[in-house]
Amino acid sequence: MKAAALIVAAGRGTRVGGGPKQYRLLGGKPVLRRTVEAFLRHPEIDTVRCVIHPDDASEYAAAVDGFVLLDPVSGGRSRQDSVRMGLESLVGMAPDIVLIHDAARPFVCAAVIDACLKGLDAAEGAIAAMQVHDTLKRGDQQGAIAATIDRTNLWHAQTPQAFRFDAILRAHRSALGHELTDDAAVAERAGLRVVLTPGSHENVKITTIADLVDAESRVSEGQRICRTGIGFDVHRLGPGDRVIICGVEIPHDGALVGHSDADVGLHAITDAVLGAIAAGDIGTHFPPSDHRWRGADSSVFARHAAELVHARGGRIENIDVTIICERPKIGPHRPAMVAKLADIFGLQVECVSVKATTTEGLGFTGRGQGIAAQAATSISFALSS
Ligand code: MG
Repeated sequence: MKAAALIVAAGRGTRVGGGPKQYRLLGGKPVLRRTVEAFLRHPEIDTVRCVIHPDDASEYAAAVDGFVLLDPVSGGRSRQDSVRMGLESLVGMAPDIVLIHDAARPFVCAAVIDACLKGLDAAEGAIAAMQVHDTLKRGDQQGAIAATIDRTNLWHAQTPQAFRFDAILRAHRSALGHELTDDAAVAERAGLRVVLTPGSHENVKITTIADLVDAESRVSEGQRICRTGIGFDVHRLGPGDRVIICGVEIPHDGALVGHSDADVGLHAITDAVLGAIAAGDIGTHFPPSDHRWRGADSSVFARHAAELVHARGGRIENIDVTIICERPKIGPHRPAMVAKLADIFGLQVECVSVKATTTEGLGFTGRGQGIAAQAATSISFALSS
């Protein structure tokens, strides 16, 4: 036995919410599975063991399904206790080297692991770390700057932290009862020489919900599928002095008739969005028989459809709508419509297209009896594998 990886996965990760962060899905795969995989794949790592919370046994089993690794051991009250218990569990195997790593750093790469292993040629410990480039300030109780800290020789500690097994085991046993923030601190306390080796910007620790969102967009890059939806709508013209199309009021010698504000453009787009996620149509969600929607601003319907997309993990990529009428002229109002749609759907204006056409005087739109609109949208989803 030469090198063992000890992955610390016993934390509760309460800052992320929705259960321990190491079991949350990233691109459809648990965070812990990605982390374990990085070590299992490394040619110089002989075995992997996780330290888990006893309540997480079933989540753990699902996360590492199909992997060949040592049975997990239960952790303790603190991370330091968990690491010590993990080290004790490896005593019988007597590895030469142990790499201790946080489960919540799933983007650790082979180069970072290599650097730690290489660092052990010259020291009893070697940790992944990044030099501090930002200027550091110490604040006072009121949030004002009290001092500027000299950043020379300052580093951000990451994991993995690699050690000679016997040395770190002794250091942890003797640190019992002293609260230290990482294993390098345990080693330093025992007088071990620990060197800093290159970490990476990608090797982030997922701590907050924002970290999880960033991580999700990273893993899903280039691994998205697109779904398309189309929508069509017509509203009759009746007496009035204005129409509302794509959320923009346009003076006219008639008004569109409907239960809501009769925004034919937004209705077609809303149906396209619902269509792309196979979530029925606008009438399913907002029945005309429901008095709540009498005269309603149709952006309410559109925003609801956008929320359904987000709830399913989708991202609206673009919207394209064509308004079909002889009058009013749409062209002058196109920039306002694009801006309004971009706002409703949270899109860049480059991703919103509003077009107009006539029917050459033919049919109900040609005779000015009504206005029609058709729309298309693409919605992308991260591949869940
Ligand atoms: Mg309609």
